[in-house]
Amino acid sequence: MTDWNQMSDAEFRKEVRRFFETEYPAELRNLSHRPKFAEIEHWHKKLHAKGWVAPAWPAEYGGMGLNAAKLLIFYEEQQRWGIVRGRDMGVQMVGPLIIKYGTQAQKDYWLPRILSCETIWCQGYSEPGAGSDLANLRTRAALEGDEFVINGQKIWTTMAHDSTHIFMLVRTDPNAPKKQQGISFLLARMDQPGITVRTIKTLAGEEEFCEVFLDNARTPRENLVGEMNKGWTMAKALLSFERIFIGSPNLAQNALIQLEGFARGRGAFEDPVFRDRFAQAALDVEDHAALYTRFADQLKRGETLGSDVSMLKIWVTETFQRITELMVEAAGPDGGTLGPLQVGNVGMDVLSSFYKARPTTIYGGANEIQRNILAKAVLELPD
Ligand SMILES: Cc1cc2nc3c(=O)[nH]c(=O)nc-3n(C[C@H](O)[C@H](O)[C@H](O)COP(=O)(O)OP(=O)(O)OC[C@H]3O[C@@H](n4cnc5c(N)ncnc54)[C@H](O)[C@@H]3O)c2cc1C
Repeated sequence: MTDWNQMSDAEFRKEVRRFFETEYPAELRNLSHRPKFAEIEHWHKKLHAKGWVAPAWPAEYGGMGLNAAKLLIFYEEQQRWGIVRGRDMGVQMVGPLIIKYGTQAQKDYWLPRILSCETIWCQGYSEPGAGSDLANLRTRAALEGDEFVINGQKIWTTMAHDSTHIFMLVRTDPNAPKKQQGISFLLARMDQPGITVRTIKTLAGEEEFCEVFLDNARTPRENLVGEMNKGWTMAKALLSFERIFIGSPNLAQNALIQLEGFARGRGAFEDPVFRDRFAQAALDVEDHAALYTRFADQLKRGETLGSDVSMLKIWVTETFQRITELMVEAAGPDGGTLGPLQVGNVGMDVLSSFYKARPTTIYGGANEIQRNILAKAVLELPD
């Protein structure tokens, strides 16, 4: 088995880049929607055969075992080449939780099935009334014999309609003194009579997320991960790497490159006001990249990131949004049209980039919440 961490960073980057550039299907580059599994199955199989499905998992569980520096390179190359996020909630979210808190039997059963995508996962955290304030969740699970019986509703569940399983936070002790207590982490099959999924259309007309209704849904007791009533601490424990991943500069950098090409083709740079706004966006992208490098270096030295990492997510998502607004502006009267607009030989879907940028300030902890974190933990402002 290759120990990737023994390679120099430059060698590793070259190897990853070579694989992506030669193997990744061209028609899947920079997809504007979240694909169903069938659409990306052939790519998933290639990754699986190479042993590259789970870059962050330890090698003993079938992962690449990358250290923080190599992991950042892997994700940077993925984004640079416009590689779509696969159906990765198994690998990114529930897998690491099972590795850290699961029993040996849970590891043996679930981990290989997550890697092969025999099980495809969705995340059942948010509920109506429990988003930013997630600990408000009201979905109940009660033990009846050897099974949990689950009642309640989840919402914004990405790709629930194309998932075989759901991992969710549920309330198992409604009488716990604090709302963060009495929450447990359960796994369940989606194809059962107690679960109804209703898709929600996004602004772009895509069906990416869903409502999930749980009406006496059932799951065996052995599908409880970690200790009963301790799910909250577990669910929060694994967010630290995501905080830098979500703040990576590629999102804004790629959009800026697209904007430049598009604006040139459309003659938008002849307008001095547009030129000014473009220069401002380009400087914001540079500033953000410099800040990101500082945090990435901290990770590479094995240091823990502080709460100030929230700046990254705020900055990159808001810059990304401004860039996509400039794209719509550069498109002039065509800016309100869905579908590719031609510039020379290149087609660019301006409106879909604009739509894609909208939710980035909401998911992964809304930007207002990130600002609250900065205000309290970094600036030490009063409540
Ligand atoms: C594209 C996308 C995919 C998603 N996928 C999933 C998924 O797969 N599974 C899942 O469980 N969830 C998912 N979510 C849900 C996401 O986690 C929530 O949208 C998010 O936590 C915000 O919660 P909310 O929508 O209930 O908004 P609310 O919490 O109601 O917030 C509404 C507004 O009020 C602001 N606000 C709230 N509280 C405060 C405060 N204390 N101070 C200042 N401002 C505040 C927020 O910032 C926001 O602007 C997804 C969301 C999006 C956009």
